[in-house]
Amino acid sequence: MQPLWIGTSWKMNKTLAEAREWTSALVGHLDGRAPEGVQPFVIPSFTATTTVAQILGEDSPVLLGVQNAHWEDAGAWTGEISVPQAKDAGAQIVEIGHSERREHFGETVETTRLKVAASLRHGLTPLLCIGESAEVKDAGGSSAFILEQARGALEGLTEEQVADVVIAYEPIWAIGEKGRPATVEELVEPFAALGDEYSGRVKGLLYGGSVNLENAADLLGIEHVTGLFVGRTAWKVEGYLELLRIG
Ligand code: PEP
Repeated sequence: MQPLWIGTSWKMNKTLAEAREWTSALVGHLDGRAPEGVQPFVIPSFTATTTVAQILGEDSPVLLGVQNAHWEDAGAWTGEISVPQAKDAGAQIVEIGHSERREHFGETVETTRLKVAASLRHGLTPLLCIGESAEVKDAGGSSAFILEQARGALEGLTEEQVADVVIAYEPIWAIGEKGRPATVEELVEPFAALGDEYSGRVKGLLYGGSVNLENAADLLGIEHVTGLFVGRTAWKVEGYLELLRIG
């Protein structure tokens, strides 16, 4: 049985003191063991990566990620970090293609493809985010749109490499302060489309977007969903611990 992946990205939030507090509380509660059948993960800002890695310690049941990494291993790319640097800092996951990076930082299907390949080259798990806008959804094009994003990013990979990828479906209209929680009914069709193509082939098919303590169990009950990628609800460690319990 694949574990349920339940994790959070802190986006551009948390000082080092806050990162220490959150991570120490998590480590204290888990006491070296993830809840049965759950794979926890946390994706802090770059500045907190090594701090969080040190607090998690070696052989932690919690995987650590970065929110982005460049496809080149090194070079003149001011403001970027590479996958080898992320790995050196303790990361095991590279988040790729979040809709905020696509909207504000020029991430494209082509750059997500390069970043997925770079992550796999260095043995890190790509966490590929895909998701459509409200306009695409209203025009009835959600499934076609997200399949195109996923296919483009995974193009050229062997089946063995695809098996190391985690996909997070995060509809833009459901994300963050400006989003609204999706209903289960709205997610059935996109997950059926993703499941048809990727169920059993990838490491995980996660849902993300306004996940909260009230809707988490229902979202996990949708066919093909094998985890949750969470923002705001998990930024307080009590919220994250509760989600792990629900998982
Ligand atoms: C996100 O931004 O990817 C996200 C899932 O955030 P939230 O849970 O806060 O909607």
